[in-house]
Amino acid sequence: MAQIIDGKAAAAKILENVTKGAEELKTRGVTPGLAVVIVGEDPASQVYVASKSKKATECGFHSVQHSLPENTSEDELVSLVEDLNRDPAIHGILVQLPLPKHINSDRIIYTIAPEKDVDGFHILNVGMLGTGAIAKALVPCTPAGAMLLIEGVRGKDLSGLSAVVIGRSNIVGKPMANLLLAANATVTIAHSRTADLAAVCRNADIVVAAVGRPQMVKGEWIKPGATVIDVGINRIPAPEKGEGKTRLVGDVDYAEAEKVAGSITPVPGGVGPMTIAMLMANTLAAANRASGRDTPDL
Ligand code: NAD
Repeated sequence: MAQIIDGKAAAAKILENVTKGAEELKTRGVTPGLAVVIVGEDPASQVYVASKSKKATECGFHSVQHSLPENTSEDELVSLVEDLNRDPAIHGILVQLPLPKHINSDRIIYTIAPEKDVDGFHILNVGMLGTGAIAKALVPCTPAGAMLLIEGVRGKDLSGLSAVVIGRSNIVGKPMANLLLAANATVTIAHSRTADLAAVCRNADIVVAAVGRPQMVKGEWIKPGATVIDVGINRIPAPEKGEGKTRLVGDVDYAEAEKVAGSITPVPGGVGPMTIAMLMANTLAAANRASGRDTPDL
């Protein structure tokens, strides 16, 4: 039976340290500030944004939320982001994606000042991560959180270990691969066009699944003793809980994989809680850097 990697506990520890870090910064006259911007009424996005703002308040941050109507123009949104860029009380800016179709997301992301880009999506942060300048970059929250979970079981130096990342999105797969590479793992990025994914996975000491397909990664794909990090969040029908009920599952067939893996993240309770914790960590780091200080390890 695999060791279960407890993302909830790891996230709670990070949030505790972030809260302490914020208190410390306040004694120097700086309160970390996070601005979250949402455009439109998408219910899932509304829930995410509300929980990010609430968590920022719990960490002792100055927390601001801008909720704009669906018909907000691209220029209006650019103008708000530029105002937030200039606001010295704001250290982190997050524009919730997806944006309505009439707005060019890339233009908005590239308008965010890179040093306030706590999602880590600005091309400058992407470039710093890609060139290994991780200490200077703001790293996307989900892969950054997944990486901390991997470090928790495998240590910071992954020399000699092989890692497979399934999924090549800019938000999860690619930054995840760069983080693993920076930690000296030998990295393979697999995706929808990969031939014989099962064989690719079987060689991996570390498997990170970020696909969005329920229980796609089977137990027999896992090398005995491997570390399995399941980023996927998928809602599937759960008739056993009653008519019309659903439940969350990852991209990995957990029941099968936990029999083979050395360690594994559950869904829910694995990578999910780490994402919001890393958003708070990035905001604290941005506030520290704005006042000329390094960020302590979390
Ligand atoms: P995405 O749709 O942008 O990318 C999915 C990737 O999977 C693509 O690169 C694609 O090539 C690959 N893929 C699709 N089908 C495949 C197949 N059959 N075999 C191999 N690869 C295949 O998704 P994303 O934004 O990277 O998110 C991936 C998953 O992670 C989703 O379930 C999402 O909900 C979840 N997610 C979780 C968090 C979190 O906080 N835990 C954050 C972001 C995303």
